[in-house]
Amino acid sequence: MELDTFDVVLFDLDGTIYYGSKIIPGANETIEFFRKAGKKIYFTTNNSTKTRAQIYDKLFDMGVNCKLDEVLTSGYIAAIYCKKNKLNNVYIFGSSNLIQEFNELGITVNQNDDAENLLIGYNPLMTYDDLTAALQVALHAKQIMACNRERTFPGENSKLMPGCGAMTAPIEWCTQRECDLIIGKPNTLMIDLLCDFEKLSPDRFLIIGDTYESDIRMADRAGCKSILIDKENLYKNCLNVNDISIIPGVFN
Ligand SMILES: [Mg+2]
Repeated sequence: MELDTFDVVLFDLDGTIYYGSKIIPGANETIEFFRKAGKKIYFTTNNSTKTRAQIYDKLFDMGVNCKLDEVLTSGYIAAIYCKKNKLNNVYIFGSSNLIQEFNELGITVNQNDDAENLLIGYNPLMTYDDLTAALQVALHAKQIMACNRERTFPGENSKLMPGCGAMTAPIEWCTQRECDLIIGKPNTLMIDLLCDFEKLSPDRFLIIGDTYESDIRMADRAGCKSILIDKENLYKNCLNVNDISIIPGVFN
């Protein structure tokens, strides 16, 4: 793939930049390679349990040179979407950090049964009581949104963990209603927002990720370029690439 065919590189995080709390060897060098080539960089995760400020801190602690504005979480995109569409009356069935993300954008959430809309986010602390409370809103909600519907994600040492889909599934099952809107990948909402913001067409974006179902499917739907990283080799051959104009063949 020629370097001059895109302007923006959007990196997935889990399984692409880090596994759990460990950075993937070569990831930082690859980011720097694209920065030196003059590309705009964004980092994206479907994870909505951390605010983007916390993700930024995590990247910073791992030695990744980045800015807060480069970090996009599905929770942040959800908050932007609700703000843009004036959805103020939202109940959040998710982590306290997801509520905080909304509050930071000046959106007051409604954690009562009479909320008009429901947003489902990943929440490892979910209890039966939480599920019962969310169900009361889901039964009459104008719009049911989900940060994503991923079945699993890679945790510490690549251990497979139940994803946000494990939170959407019981709501969908109990109400016999599918979520109306999926905010995160593979939906193209974040690409639509970035295209507006960067004043670029989707084909000027390169998406790099480790999951076909979310990263590459989003790229295909939006019309972006994409690279599915090779889980076996990752960035192994990507360390000395500063003087070439073609991305090395470490990727699928
Ligand atoms: Mg991933």
